[in-house]
Amino acid sequence: MSDLRSLIRSIPDYPKPGIIFRDVTTLMGDARGFKAAVEGMAAPYANEKIDAVVGIEARGFILGGAVADRLSCGFIPIRKKGKLPWKTIGQQYALEYGVDIIEIHEDAITPGQRILIVDDLIATGGTAEAAAKLISRTGGLVAGASFLVDLPELGGLDLLRSHGVRTHTLIAFEGH
Ligand code: AMP
Repeated sequence: MSDLRSLIRSIPDYPKPGIIFRDVTTLMGDARGFKAAVEGMAAPYANEKIDAVVGIEARGFILGGAVADRLSCGFIPIRKKGKLPWKTIGQQYALEYGVDIIEIHEDAITPGQRILIVDDLIATGGTAEAAAKLISRTGGLVAGASFLVDLPELGGLDLLRSHGVRTHTLIAFEGH
């Protein structure tokens, strides 16, 4: 995975001082890198029954759509509040300062469906935890969560595992 790692651009002090932004657009723009990332994220679930991938706005749409195609399953978007056109259910989650809300279409998941969560990166895990709650509230079963990048110091994977969610990541970066 050292190749994949070197394809990710690290931008210090973006969007604010002290944060290193891990920019995956440089990896997505590389044909072999993008393919390897999608393959790696989908691989642990290839022989399982996954009914749909839930992708989290916005980079989770790009990776999630490709992973869904690879697993021959559906794709369901989770978006920031007010963006989805049909009836939604929302879930609040904590940001460093304040709160945010993500939403899913209320009828997107059929109860009992097995759902894989996909996003580009897990930091504190707050976003993915909120996504897992939305899936559970619609009657879906969280079959796992797959991320390209983990920031282990922020403890997101531990948070998801504390809810019994199986996790899979390809690359870890130190720091925030
Ligand atoms: P969290 O809810 O703290 O796990 O944050 C995860 C979400 O924020 C993901 O959708 C990421 O795309 C984004 N994110 C958080 N930290 C970073 C970072 N250092 N670089 C790039 N994206 C980040």
